[in-house]
Amino acid sequence: MRDDARFVWHPYTQHHRAPQPVPIARARGSWLYDTDGRGILDAIASWWVTTHGHAHPAITEAIAEQARTLDQVIFAGFTHEPAARLAAELVSRLPTSLSRVFYSDDGSTAVEVAIKLSLQSFANRGEPRRLVAALENAYHGDTFGAMAAGARGVFTHMYEPLLFEVARLPDPSEGDALAALDRLLNTRGHELAAVIVEPLVLGASGMRVWSAEVLRGIRERTAAAGVHLIADEVMTGFGRTGPMFACELAGVQPDLICLSKGITGGVLPLGATVATEAIFDAFRSDDRRKTFFHGHSYTANPIACAAALASLQLFDASCDAARERIATFHATQLAALHGTRGVKQVRHIGTVAAIELDAPAGYLSDIGRELAAYALHEGVLLRPLGNVAYCLPPYCTTNEELGLVYDVVHRFLDGARVAPITSGGPVDD
Ligand SMILES: *Cc1c(COP(=O)(O)O)cnc(C)c1O
Repeated sequence: MRDDARFVWHPYTQHHRAPQPVPIARARGSWLYDTDGRGILDAIASWWVTTHGHAHPAITEAIAEQARTLDQVIFAGFTHEPAARLAAELVSRLPTSLSRVFYSDDGSTAVEVAIKLSLQSFANRGEPRRLVAALENAYHGDTFGAMAAGARGVFTHMYEPLLFEVARLPDPSEGDALAALDRLLNTRGHELAAVIVEPLVLGASGMRVWSAEVLRGIRERTAAAGVHLIADEVMTGFGRTGPMFACELAGVQPDLICLSKGITGGVLPLGATVATEAIFDAFRSDDRRKTFFHGHSYTANPIACAAALASLQLFDASCDAARERIATFHATQLAALHGTRGVKQVRHIGTVAAIELDAPAGYLSDIGRELAAYALHEGVLLRPLGNVAYCLPPYCTTNEELGLVYDVVHRFLDGARVAPITSGGPVDD
């Protein structure tokens, strides 16, 4: 596509050396089709968003109907049925602590809103707290507040001096986050407004799975200290880890939850931050300065809300069964891969499977790229995170289709490659 090469700037892409992007013409179910009609299995749900499959008729129909009826309206001073109903439907499915829905545009804005709500709720009560704690290896998005909360690395080093201070707790998949939290609460507990976590799986840093026990420990300690727990379920929400929300796996009630990605079935952008009634109450006042002065042009876009409502309807018993089936298939396949030459570790939670590849030192950073290139050649979309390959499929993906993904991984481990290996293939640096 000549116009793409001439006029478009792609995300996470080094345009000096990246190969031409794959032109996709249409998509259906678990498959993308390029402009030549070749099918590519979407094994990563198009960046973790697609839940029920591409172009699901119930969702596309709801979108068409809503677009004909009410496309967009300012959401301050006005409201509409899709936003109101979606808020009610979300609250009915969320942990019972959560009851007020603030809409935004994407995962990053959902995180920004959660952090701002926490900080301002303390200020509004006249007991300001300004410190946020987050996990090592966390990812919370690419806007400034979300970058500050996320782990620092190559993506953020440019902006480091501009990012606000965040207290770091060890990644619970490899360190003692609870002991560190105890120390932090002892020394700076009175400054701490919130702890933000990706519940049970640190996604972008390589699908690092961590324990429900530790999440409960974080909840107990923050609750006792009057500190908010922010659950960033942008990736884990909407069935990804098994239940509707990962917090359910730990029986944890957060003060704030961040939702996006799968919220519309992965069809339209929408973010939501859901707060407790106590946080909402901290903003109710005759003093106008206590208002939450935050909003986006497209806040609660009716078409996105309609897509989300249609998507929620699809979380029925058969969707539960499909996620169970995928989880079981992953478990079986990963058990077979465990201990295989070239595999360092396997990880699994719900519909998410991760395979950490092993390779000679110095070669490690290229192996993910090689796998992505080989998989694409074989008609499977994988986008390893460094040396961690993962499969995070739409829930309509059949076992036969999942089998294609694991076959590709096995052949790659057996030495299959595409030549020549292009540098800067379709994976993150
Ligand atoms: C993807 C992601 C985000 C950012 O969402 P965007 O929609 O890309 O801004 C935030 N938190 C987590 C856990 C994510 O996986």
